[in-house]
Amino acid sequence: MGARVQAGGAVGYSKYRWLVAMGIFLLLAFTAPPSDTRPLRTKYVIIVVIDGVRWSETWGAAPGLIPHMSTTLKSNGSFLSKFFNDAYTYTNSGHAAITTGVNQPINNYGDELPANPSIFQYFLKQSGKPATAAWIVSSKDKLHILADTQRPDWKGSFQPSVNAGKNGPGTGYRADSLTLVEALKVLKTHKPNLMLINFMEPDGYAHAANEKFYLRGIARSDRYVQQLWDFLSKDKHFRGNTTLLVTTDHGRHLDGIDGGWTEHGDNCAGCEQIFLLALGPDFRKIQIQNRHTLIDIAPTVARLLNFEMDSVVLVPHIDTTVVQFSMADTVLTPRKDSVRLETKLDITVLKGKPIKELFSAKTRKQLGL
Ligand SMILES: [Zn+2]
Ligand SMILES: [Zn+2]
Repeated sequence: MGARVQAGGAVGYSKYRWLVAMGIFLLLAFTAPPSDTRPLRTKYVIIVVIDGVRWSETWGAAPGLIPHMSTTLKSNGSFLSKFFNDAYTYTNSGHAAITTGVNQPINNYGDELPANPSIFQYFLKQSGKPATAAWIVSSKDKLHILADTQRPDWKGSFQPSVNAGKNGPGTGYRADSLTLVEALKVLKTHKPNLMLINFMEPDGYAHAANEKFYLRGIARSDRYVQQLWDFLSKDKHFRGNTTLLVTTDHGRHLDGIDGGWTEHGDNCAGCEQIFLLALGPDFRKIQIQNRHTLIDIAPTVARLLNFEMDSVVLVPHIDTTVVQFSMADTVLTPRKDSVRLETKLDITVLKGKPIKELFSAKTRKQLGL
């Protein structure tokens, strides 16, 4: 399963310095300057990721376990049913796709930073705001990786604030009810412009094959999203100028495939099918029929908060041509680590695009979409 894909540790980024240099050159050549007219009302964007929920237990059985999202919230915003993670369907990759706009294989244990800078870093750099203006509030401690990148020209710079796991990286997963409390506390205290919230219970309990708690986690997440939206639409600071995006990082296997609902990580229809619920003052209230994927979220957020993302990005891929066996393994019992996976970097253009159907024709024109 994809959850076991390992990107072979740190990538030799120094070797790729010329790629970065070329990227910066291309970036300067292609990046359009930010427009000075700003037709949008959004000042705050909150992204909620309900980790690893399958279509068949959520939108495929609505209202069912998600009465808040599928009725009140859906009628107040846009809903995309043809929304997919069509690349790496495990947690750290799915989240990195959301925050960097790039699909990449990545270590799923929290040991590897994304190859490209995140929306948090772009936003903080271009707005000049302090680290408390962008937050990651996550039940899974390993998602601290979303705060930084391996890219040498961004690493360690413009990092958002992180509140993840029981007490930071390596301290274990935190109950979602506590993550909701922390998220609300951060919203009230720091009034961040950009926040990603991860709720882990559906995924965590599904991996433990605890169906009752998997389903309970879905129902709870539905309630937490409603509670967040109630807060955001009543609070005088956030009311009328806050966008809420709700999605999941990946689905789960279809029944009959490799453990069914308990696991995920391949490209079966159950793992790839996800959703996007989008509410905010700048969005139309419609069902969007066009196909979009996770990597379209970051460029959409960039439009909403008026920052630019590099149009040239680095994409690691596992190079299967360099799988090597050590001499010793020919005479000794083969060890698991005798296969060495090497990661290579490609340079490419940012493939994600703003989801233009969310906006009215007039706004689209003003945004140049
Ligand atoms: Zn996940
Ligand atoms: Zn699958």
